[in-house]
Amino acid sequence: MVVRGAAAGARKDTAMSMARDEGVLEAAVSALRHDWTLDEVRQLFALPFMDLILAAQRVHRLHHVPNAVQMSTLLSIKTGGCPEDCAYCPQSVHYQTGLGREALMEVAAVRECAARARAAGATRFCMGAAYRSPKARDLEVIVEMIREVRALGLESCATLGMLSPEQALQLKDAGLDYYNHNLDSSAEFYGEIVKSRTYQQRLDTLAAVRAAGLKVCCGGIIGMGESPADRAQLLRTLANLPEHPESVPINRLVKVPGTPLADAPEVDAFDFVRTCAVARLLMPRAHVRLSAGRSSMSDELQALCFLAGANSIFYGDKLLTTGNPDVARDRALFERLGLTPLKP
Ligand code: SF4
Repeated sequence: MVVRGAAAGARKDTAMSMARDEGVLEAAVSALRHDWTLDEVRQLFALPFMDLILAAQRVHRLHHVPNAVQMSTLLSIKTGGCPEDCAYCPQSVHYQTGLGREALMEVAAVRECAARARAAGATRFCMGAAYRSPKARDLEVIVEMIREVRALGLESCATLGMLSPEQALQLKDAGLDYYNHNLDSSAEFYGEIVKSRTYQQRLDTLAAVRAAGLKVCCGGIIGMGESPADRAQLLRTLANLPEHPESVPINRLVKVPGTPLADAPEVDAFDFVRTCAVARLLMPRAHVRLSAGRSSMSDELQALCFLAGANSIFYGDKLLTTGNPDVARDRALFERLGLTPLKP
């Protein structure tokens, strides 16, 4: 009798918890929202893994072509010597990582790289420069680079640090499609990893980029020692922006010797997949991108991330200054999974 009562109680608890899970899932799949509470996002993270992945794949198929992955190539057009102190970055002048400095590339050399990326199958070409914010004379050269990339029929993206509203407009006028500016983590954790600028400055640049009519690429890094609440808060902040970013890169920390995060604890692989899935649920139309750290992921982990709604990768030999799976490995993985490159 007691056992039967306990079993009935357990069934009731399970039913109540399923109803609660279904409530939060229903909220996730029913509309594009910009009013997520931290509690709701944490509930999504806490769902049983299979339920979360299934819901993310369901939402994914409502908004995206199944089995198609957007392919971007990222080129470092100005490397190292950055005055900022981002604790994860080998390009900061504050850390001894052995990375050399390279001045801003010539326009013709960038054009050549973009043409090679297009020939290899990339549809978007991203140019990254290690700046706090770009100088006027450098921006003029970068404007030329953007025009060359667009002339090749590629989508263009740039990541150049903080922008004023005028600089954002200058890039828009040059034909730039996307601007990348990551929030990295939660506002609460941000001061632990970057001291040379504030979270609000990041948000201000994102607002300037949007106001100029550029598309936004904005995400974060998992594995810097942040708490589960910080991960939830990062995704909540992104989802509660006035417009969801069109691209959301989810990076897994690359631990570079010489940086303060060289010995950061390993991220649990399932927690990483969960982050991709919750990003997909909160920002259904965004391209969720597997970015830095992909070279150390197994094919099976990447496949789980795709199942969780990731549908964009950086493609090519180098990801700024850290490694990226080579083109041959990516092609083999796509073949094995039946994935195809997404046409723009
Ligand atoms: S992440 Fe960007 S801003 Fe930060 S140190 Fe590296 S290059 Fe500079």
